[in-house]
Amino acid sequence: MKENEYTRQCPNCSKEFVAQRADQLFCSSKCRYDFHNRRARGKRIKVTLIDRILHRNREVLLEFFIKTKPPKVSHQELLNAGFDFGFHTHSSMVKDSQQKCYYIYEYGILKEADGKFKILQDEKLQGA
Ligand SMILES: [Zn+2]
Repeated sequence: MKENEYTRQCPNCSKEFVAQRADQLFCSSKCRYDFHNRRARGKRIKVTLIDRILHRNREVLLEFFIKTKPPKVSHQELLNAGFDFGFHTHSSMVKDSQQKCYYIYEYGILKEADGKFKILQDEKLQGA
């Protein structure tokens, strides 16, 4: 293959090719299509896995919120129910305190002085 400024390596099949245009990155439209499709599929899979964990977390909090009065649970009870502390949707500082409440959609957990977690609803989302 004659070396010139348009000699490239296809990021999909690793084949060397001569680009017809300066902005041509792939050796063929099939390679471009396959590359972007594979990337989109990988992204979809990751998003699906995280969504599944978040939905499970929300179900756990919802169940405790309804069944436990007042809605307060231990770390172990949350773990036993399948709650994953590594995933939440957002967080906010509690007014007039140094504490942070972690939310999974509209339900939040707030660690209290006794080490248990209070489950509360996000006031910003009330009536939404
Ligand atoms: Zn290719």
